[in-house]
Amino acid sequence: MKKIAFIGLGIMGKPMAGNLVRAGYDVTVFDLVEQPVEELIRQGAKRAKTVEQLIEGNEIVITMLPNSPHVKTALTDGAEAVIHYAAPGTIVIDMSSISPNVTKEIHHAFQEKGVGFIDAPVSGGRVGAEAGTLSIMVGGERHYFSEVKDILDVLGGRVMYMGGSGAGQTTKICNQIMVAGTVTTMSEALAVAKKEGLDLYHVRDVLQSGGANCWHLEHKAAGMIAGDYSPSFKAELLLKDVRLAVDKAREEGLELPLLRKIEEMFARLVDHYGGGIDYTAIFQQICDDFEQ
Ligand code: NAD
Repeated sequence: MKKIAFIGLGIMGKPMAGNLVRAGYDVTVFDLVEQPVEELIRQGAKRAKTVEQLIEGNEIVITMLPNSPHVKTALTDGAEAVIHYAAPGTIVIDMSSISPNVTKEIHHAFQEKGVGFIDAPVSGGRVGAEAGTLSIMVGGERHYFSEVKDILDVLGGRVMYMGGSGAGQTTKICNQIMVAGTVTTMSEALAVAKKEGLDLYHVRDVLQSGGANCWHLEHKAAGMIAGDYSPSFKAELLLKDVRLAVDKAREEGLELPLLRKIEEMFARLVDHYGGGIDYTAIFQQICDDFEQ
């Protein structure tokens, strides 16, 4: 079985790395924060003290980091970046949601070193990461995808090859346009129902059985109604994704007026409640606005 180095053990990366350990892979883990490293060591993962040690002897490197600058630093630009240590033949899989253009730059840098690089961002949230049922969207050379498909199958319920380098990230941007739109319109609907004094759990139940049903109603509405905004996907990360989408559209000469409005709303949410709150707190923000 292939040996894997896993970098970034946050809300998503920790359960993903745990699933690989449980599937029998030899996994060495790395994060700037100690606690998730310790938890994974207890589950059977190995520790690396330096990036050199992390990469040594591992054929696959997986990253699950917040944003483009984190991924660039960890993989190509930092003094201790993976590129300085990865042997030709290594395959690097970036599962973070980042810019397709940055993805292509990283792809180019690794290509020159004979190292494979594919983009494989995910959808499905913490629940999907824990259950190993993520939806995974892959870009890069098809032969590298074929070589790591067994690993991606442990993490995902549906693993789809989308095209050349960056195609996975562009697909993820499309996913996030819809995620941002559905959570915002659902929050507006629930905020109206709340203002009218309706029982929000009844509203959720009846909407779920009609044409308005969606993943957010099924998985997120109960927590939102209860006011539980402990982060499973940080608002600052959704704002990052919305901005990636706005930028991508702009590059193509496209305007996304609805998404621009949503960007404004999430920027205000992050400003008021902090970037670490769950993105579903957009419901709270809309309720606050109704009271003013
Ligand atoms: P997170 O903030 O919970 O975790 C990020 C982890 O990366 C942290 O543990 C942090 O310490 C670590 N880190 C940062 N820089 C590092 C470095 N240089 N070296 C090693 N570790 C470093 O974020 P998350 O929710 O796990 O999301 C990760 C990525 O997955 C993001 O791009 C996000 O947009 C995407 N994503 C998240 C979800 C979700 O529901 N949370 C769903 C799909 C996709």
